[in-house]
Amino acid sequence: MKRFVYILFSIVVGFQSANAQNTIRNYVVNYGSINNKGQQLVTLRKFHQSGKTKYFAVNVNSLQTLLVDSTTVSVTPATWLQLSNTFSKTPYFKAITKANAQSFSLQDAGLIHGFPKEQGITLTIDLCPSHKPLDRSIFSSLVAAYAKIEQPVPVALSISGKFLLTHQNDINWLKQLENNGQIKITWINHTFTHYYNPKEPLADNFLLKPGTNISYEVLALEKALLNNGSLPSIFFRFPGLVSNNTVVQTITGFGLIPIGSDAWLAKGQLANNGTIVLIHGNGNEPLGVQDFIKLLNSNKNKVLKRQWLMYDLGETVKDEFQ
Ligand SMILES: [Zn+2]
Repeated sequence: MKRFVYILFSIVVGFQSANAQNTIRNYVVNYGSINNKGQQLVTLRKFHQSGKTKYFAVNVNSLQTLLVDSTTVSVTPATWLQLSNTFSKTPYFKAITKANAQSFSLQDAGLIHGFPKEQGITLTIDLCPSHKPLDRSIFSSLVAAYAKIEQPVPVALSISGKFLLTHQNDINWLKQLENNGQIKITWINHTFTHYYNPKEPLADNFLLKPGTNISYEVLALEKALLNNGSLPSIFFRFPGLVSNNTVVQTITGFGLIPIGSDAWLAKGQLANNGTIVLIHGNGNEPLGVQDFIKLLNSNKNKVLKRQWLMYDLGETVKDEFQ
């Protein structure tokens, strides 16, 4: 018995120390540029993990994010303004500029429409805090519908920290689908807390709640994703799609591109070619999910002829600003 307790103790201690070592520390905003074998990268964050210093960076032409080990590259420090000027002609900074210009409405700021030449849609699924499980039928239906057409199926998931931390089984299930090559996930930052009070006016609600620590909301979510072994993208979705000019400028100042929607299905908006569709996958919007599954079924013949495809959010935005 003693021996058993000792072994158990060692396993627990061993597991904890391995975990503590991999945990991300000193996660901060850090701007700079890297020319890596002809690829132009911009660093957005810097952190320590497993005894190494790493950067979270974005390729300004492809919009793909990546982690870079500090020992393998040389970073030229810069301010955000300097980077915006130097790389103003790249798809990444053009998208940031467009998002800033579309920042004046209280709802649905940022990029709301995909590339008009697309035959199909870009699907975004919001995972706001919820006591209900993930609506897995969305993913099963997608994988089944596109089995011989498009593998993996691209999906963009707007994840809140509170959903992430309380739905580990669902997140693992999604990662399994990704590992199987059935879906490709773009993780959109949907803030850590996703505050909402139905009794308050929109102008004081969600991220506009007075006293909100936006830096925490952005960085804590990224850190939670990275600690979970997932790579954040450079996309951001405002909780409730609610924002104002100041908060949009703050978010783009973190290097993130706000993504709105021109087809929130549960509100009766239609999904035409090139639309950015929004449904909720957190169990709280069964109507939107039903609408989406109906939409999939009604487009079945087009899907089979590859005339109604699912588009990758990063590709959609890149194509629009190339
Ligand atoms: Zn939300």
